Amino acid sequence: MTYIILYLIDDLYFNKVLDDQNPASNKGPGTDHGGQPPFKYPFSFAHKAVFSGGWTRQVTVRDLAIAKKAAGVQMKLIRGGVRELHWHVSSEWAYTISGQCRITAIDTLGRAFVDDVKEGDLWLFPGGIPHSIQGIGDDGCFFLLVFNDGNFNEFETFLLTDWLRHVPRDILAKNFQVPESTFANLTHEEMYIFASQMPRPLDVERKQASAVTGLVPNPFAFFTDKMKPNITRNGGIVKVVDARNFPVTTMAAAIVTLKPGALRELHWHPNDDEWNYFLKGKARMGVFASGGKARTMNFEEGDVGYIEQSSPHWIENIGTDDVVFIEVFGVPMFESISLAEWMAHTPSRLVDEHIFTGEDFILAINKTEAVIRP
Ligand code: MN
Ligand code: MN
Repeated sequence: MTYIILYLIDDLYFNKVLDDQNPASNKGPGTDHGGQPPFKYPFSFAHKAVFSGGWTRQVTVRDLAIAKKAAGVQMKLIRGGVRELHWHVSSEWAYTISGQCRITAIDTLGRAFVDDVKEGDLWLFPGGIPHSIQGIGDDGCFFLLVFNDGNFNEFETFLLTDWLRHVPRDILAKNFQVPESTFANLTHEEMYIFASQMPRPLDVERKQASAVTGLVPNPFAFFTDKMKPNITRNGGIVKVVDARNFPVTTMAAAIVTLKPGALRELHWHPNDDEWNYFLKGKARMGVFASGGKARTMNFEEGDVGYIEQSSPHWIENIGTDDVVFIEVFGVPMFESISLAEWMAHTPSRLVDEHIFTGEDFILAINKTEAVIRP
């Protein structure tokens, strides 16, 4: 008994691995204060559902209570593995983390979309638009999905086979003007994510799918390697992908690279909550939630972060390698307000009367948004 008590006094860490990964939570900056709820959820905490064609796991408002307006999914498809033809109410914003995928969809005029995406490419399927994803890389593909609804459930989408199983056979026969026996092989088990053969070559499938109605005029895929960064600074780069350069999108995004020590400057987003995902590196993010509430948390590869609309925040690279993270918004346009830019464009006497730095400091602030500081 004595031995156990001494042990607890000697080592107060109950889960040293997690404590070491989260220094901002257990020895955070002295400026943290109040009851700001957590805004981080590692995908590693999520249940991984495994199928013949791959696996998936999700982070929704049911896991991360603050994430009311967006949810995310990681999905791995093996080579040939298919995410069944399906649709859902929310829009689907996606980023290919590794490998290659074949994606298909149609628009509301029945025009076809078939394309291949690789690491760094993204896609957007608006709500209600039916689509599919298939792994075609040597090791299939691994990707991130973001939905503009915190309550989204990846395991309750409208699946082609689930629906057809729940329509009377005589109605199916009448719908397609064929005998009921046409549907005799319709599976009684859920398909969802299944192993399959590789698709035909892209041009063959595209030609077949687009017969009579043609192809969608604005593709659902976007190739980030074909755009120049919007922001290039000593501390890193930013690529903004929104309705200005990706016409079909209903969701805006920014892909941010921070070099070691660099800071995504103090800012906020007036038009929506920010759902973010860390692709690589080690960072800490500080959020101020008004009423004296402030909190800092640590982030690394595979972690989801969430910042409510107009809550000011900053992100710092605290590791020795680049940090790359994605910011996603459930609105078509990316918008942000920088603290420095605001102060630079407000009468300097007025600002000084708040923060007592002297007006020279205020007058010297960059008149254009820095975005990233080294
Ligand atoms: Mn989907
Ligand atoms: Mn932000």
